[in-house]
Order: sequence, then C-alpha cells, then structure tokens
Amino acid sequence: MDKIVIEELRIFARHGVFEFENEQGQYFYVNAVLYTDTEKAGMLDELECSTDYGSVCALIEKVMTENTYKLIETAAQSVAEAILLSFGLVRKVDIEIRKPEAPIKQEFGSVSVRISRGWHDAVIALGSNMGDSRKYIEEAVRKISENRYIRDVRCSGLIVTKPYGYTEQADFLNGALICRTMYSPHALLHFMQETELEADRRREIHWGPRTLDLDLIFYDGEIISDAELTVPHPDMKNRLFVLGPIKEIAPYYWHPVYGRTVAQLYAELEDND
Ligand code: ATP
Ligand code: CA
Ligand code: CA
Repeated sequence: MDKIVIEELRIFARHGVFEFENEQGQYFYVNAVLYTDTEKAGMLDELECSTDYGSVCALIEKVMTENTYKLIETAAQSVAEAILLSFGLVRKVDIEIRKPEAPIKQEFGSVSVRISRGWHDAVIALGSNMGDSRKYIEEAVRKISENRYIRDVRCSGLIVTKPYGYTEQADFLNGALICRTMYSPHALLHFMQETELEADRRREIHWGPRTLDLDLIFYDGEIISDAELTVPHPDMKNRLFVLGPIKEIAPYYWHPVYGRTVAQLYAELEDND
C-alpha cells in the first residue's frame, strides 16, 4: 500500500509520570506513516482524493497538546486513533513518539514508543434462542455499530435454524455481520463478551440455550489459536447457519486454512448434507 510519511514533527507538550514534566513541559517528536491508496489522487492531482498531511499534523498537535498523559504509549494510542477516526482513507498508521528529554539519569539519545494501528475486517456470527431473540440480536448489532472502534457494519438477514449439538432446546435465530474494526482480535472478543453479558447471557450448558451468542468467525486473513481464541472459528465449515448468513454479506471471504471462499464452503456442505 502507498504511504504518506511525516517525520520529526516537533511538539511542545506535557506528558510524563513526574509532576515537573506536566508543569514544565518538553519537546516531543512524532513520526507518522499513513497507509493509504494515493493512486486516484496521483492520477487526478486533486487533494480531495488524498489525505491532507497538513491537517494530519494539526490533528497530531491538537491531541498532543490538549491532553496530558503519563505515558507516551497513551499519547501514541490517542494520536493513532484520532488519525484513523478522522481520515477515512487511511487504512493503517505507524506512530512513533520520541522523548529526547525524558528524565533518565544515564546518557541517552532518545526514548520512543512505536505502534501500528489500523482498520481490520472482522466477521461475527450472531445467534440467540432465548427470550426475545430478534430484540437481543438487534440490540447487539446496534451496540456494535455504535462502538467508535467499529465502522462499516453490514448485517445479513436473520434465519430460523434448528439447534446444533445440544438439540433439546428451542430453535435459534442466526445471522452474521461484517465490519471494520480498530480492535485487536482479543480486544474485539472482549467487547463481544461484554455485549453478551449485557444481554443477560449466562454460561451454563455448552451449546445450550442462550440469549445472545457472538462468535468471531474471521479477522482479516489471520490464523489465531490460543487458550482464549481460535480464528477462523474452528467449526464454521460444518455449520450452514453460520456459512449461510456470511455467504449473503461476504461470499468472497477467503478462508485462510481451507483455502476456499465462504461460498465454496457453503456449497460443499450443502452437497454433503
Ligand atoms: P462454539 O464456539 O462451538 O459455537 P459456544 O459459542 O457455545 O460454542 P461459548 O460458551 O460461547 O461457546 O464460548 C466458549 C469460549 O470459546 C469463550 O470463552 C471464548 O474464549 C472461546 N472462543 C474461542 N474462539 C472463539 C471465537 N472465535 N469466537 C468466540 N469465542 C471463542
Ligand atoms: Ca457459538
Ligand atoms: Ca460463543
């Protein structure tokens, strides 16, 4: 992807753990790499087709001077978030904040924090078979859509399906949504779990009845497997009620483990059933 690069933007600000740093202030230096597509701007020579680096510098200065953080980690996070939220064409940013006058006894050149943040594609499966299922799912979609770290939410239609695994329970209402998110996969999972709890979700029987179930199906093309999270969701290729709604909103989504699209996985499972 193309990059717009800002180097050594000098800003007088007051971040630091010590009180004297907050009172006296010092110079910070910000480096920013904005990942964006500049092809259209390059062909048309129109600023509206690109990201105005002057406005980006002004925003960085605003975030750095209107806040007083203890940590440059927080300053970097806030700068990255502000850029991603304000400049829609920027897909990813690298931010480095250098603090050459940091209060360190030893002789040193500079200390800095470097972070990368960006918008990622995520696909979430939605399910409910307790209480007012439609309301629980619509509430969840609303909460997800209103989260500032999530944008461009597109939701499938909702379908009624027979229970899976533990079959002695009511029919499910299932759907899926695709979105862009600034969250890491684990942070997104935690937000999804918080949303489940707000829907009175209790963890009782595995695969048993629940007011709301949110499963993270895809996160970009990443493969993740740890104690908390498996992505792509391990059982999706055996579930028409997951593949069907995703096929409606993202039939082209590429499964990084099976090397096939959602539409292909759906067709294969339907043939086998
Ligand atoms: P299944 O995941 O087979 O559909 P389930 O949805 O009933 O089963 P839960 O009780 O909702 O399972 O979740 C159990 C645990 O699964 C969660 O605590 C979570 O940490 C873990 N988990 C692992 N991978 C994922 C994922 N991709 N999406 C959601 N939860 C996941
Ligand atoms: Ca599930
Ligand atoms: Ca789940």
